[in-house]
Amino acid sequence: ALLYNINGWGAPYFTVNSSGNVAVCPHGSATLGHQEIDLLKIVKKATDPTSCGGLGLQLPLMVRFPDVLKNRLESLQGAFDNAIQCRGYGSHYQGVYPVKCNQDRFIVEDIVEFGSSFRFGLEAGSKPELLLAMSCLCKGSAEGLVVCNGFKDAEYISLALVARKLALNTIIVLEQEEELDMIIHLSNKLCIRPAIGFRAKLRTKHSGHFGSTSGEKGKFGLSTAQIVRVVKKLQVLGMLDCLELLHFHIGSMIPSTSLLADGVTEAAQIYCELVRMGANNMRVIDIGGGLGIDYSGSKSSDSEVSVGYGLEDYAAAVVESVQRVCDERSVKHPVICSESGRAIVSHQSVLVFEAFSGTTTNNNEALSTLLGLQYLSDSEDSNLCAAAIRGEYEACLLYIEEMKRRCLDEFKEGSLGMEELAGIDGLCDMVRKAASASESESESVTRYHVNMSVFTSIPDLWGIQQVFPILPIHRLDEKPAVKGMLSDLTCDSDGKVDRFINGESSLALHEMVEGEKYYLGMFLGGAYQEALGGLHNLFGGPSVVRVSQSDVHPHGFAVTAAIPGPSCGDVLRAMQHHPQLMLDTLRHRAFEHLREDTFLTAEAVIGGLAHSFNNTPYLVVASSPPSSVMV
Ligand code: PLP
Repeated sequence: ALLYNINGWGAPYFTVNSSGNVAVCPHGSATLGHQEIDLLKIVKKATDPTSCGGLGLQLPLMVRFPDVLKNRLESLQGAFDNAIQCRGYGSHYQGVYPVKCNQDRFIVEDIVEFGSSFRFGLEAGSKPELLLAMSCLCKGSAEGLVVCNGFKDAEYISLALVARKLALNTIIVLEQEEELDMIIHLSNKLCIRPAIGFRAKLRTKHSGHFGSTSGEKGKFGLSTAQIVRVVKKLQVLGMLDCLELLHFHIGSMIPSTSLLADGVTEAAQIYCELVRMGANNMRVIDIGGGLGIDYSGSKSSDSEVSVGYGLEDYAAAVVESVQRVCDERSVKHPVICSESGRAIVSHQSVLVFEAFSGTTTNNNEALSTLLGLQYLSDSEDSNLCAAAIRGEYEACLLYIEEMKRRCLDEFKEGSLGMEELAGIDGLCDMVRKAASASESESESVTRYHVNMSVFTSIPDLWGIQQVFPILPIHRLDEKPAVKGMLSDLTCDSDGKVDRFINGESSLALHEMVEGEKYYLGMFLGGAYQEALGGLHNLFGGPSVVRVSQSDVHPHGFAVTAAIPGPSCGDVLRAMQHHPQLMLDTLRHRAFEHLREDTFLTAEAVIGGLAHSFNNTPYLVVASSPPSSVMV
């Protein structure tokens, strides 16, 4: 547990049990009396062909814990309720979940259900997201709040207006000034009074990757001059009472509460200015998302994968800042709305995948084998050789640069042929690679091949170099003896995991044992990864199980849903192919070519093909992995 800092990033939901397996406490460790759930037992049950309705799901497997989601939602609401109560704040907290973080049907429906007692709302950023939010909230009994963000066309605005007639509280948030004319026009046409908000471009800027759209020059929102124009226009049209909400979003993973308080203070001043300008129906300050989570468990505000605060600190900083400004300006306290996404859904799922082989590359060995090559002069050979043996890799690099210069001169003079020059280039590249690898990793690193796709399941790892906690989900009572990196199934050199939460390029892993499975888990990936993930090499999403805590079931859990991942046919269909037509074409060919074949019949081939279309794109790994190969 210490090695992977599981207590740092995993508390209160993930820990290690006495069997050395990852254990899940879906209600948080604070809920006493419940049995911890052994993650390995869930994997065994989900993959067992005699369990889960005989599905025998294939890995990779997404294990969802609705109880964790419920706990996150209640903890966020509780943190704000507490901050509001402690400070005597004069209004309430209203959460909305930005569906873009994870649009999975069960997740959105769960959030609406679990949040119904405190009227949790939804945020949409596009037309399909709005349709999703509208229909989900219609299932709830109370009037649901839908914050309509994102760029809008007439159809988006019409949908948001019509939703008001369905007793949904849609607030159209201007992302651009031009949207106002469309809202005015369509609301007159449909005779529906709109509820309007706008997104302000704050001057408070959050640095780093996640803040790149914030600040005055940010991609979204209205500048101060545009805000003034919008207010004046609404005033002239007698529609200033439609202005209800001020929104801002300074970026995801806000690193510290001081930056947060800065942004909220600036926004609260804008809010008070709007009231001063006559927008008397203003009632909501929407602070956007940005509530961070601690991927590394280091509780540090200096890194993009950690934050130096918890839910309580976050809520306190927001409530305090709004209250202070409003009290100074004698403005009634607004409802505080937040659009936290990452903080709500990150913890609720774990992706489990399997390593199926390990290959060790010994860099020192690789370097020394390079030295016998024929194009080196005697002195170059002995210098390079001696430096490599002493482990002086910088010296090796200097020698090869010198040698390359010499060879290029000889080539220009006509005394060195093209094949020789190509050989020298190759040699130099190999020495350079070996030297740089040797500098960062003095020990050999084992490449573990894993049965998943980084592009499909951890796209942020590839796209924005984000790290996630990854660790074996069992054997945690055994000291891992290997330094490993993970290579996925795609034929792409970027399909690898070689950055980990401890800042290192390798992870402590166990030797794979012949005949035994080796399962790894990727944690805190519940936000953004699923919608961003692509179909590179036509690997689709994982199988999914929903697991609820149940003290009446064996091992303390019940699998409430089991959904196989997309088949080969499904992923082909996603790229506009027609699996049935493809199979028909292959069937014709099989009958044509196998008519005379008595050993392999056309029927057998077609049966096999049909099975492949219906089967997983991932490897179906035999229970005995091949033993590690040393290169
Ligand atoms: N609201 C808006 C407008 C956003 O752009 C985002 C994400 O970038 C969010 C909410 C959710 O942010 P987070 O997941 O950091 O809470």
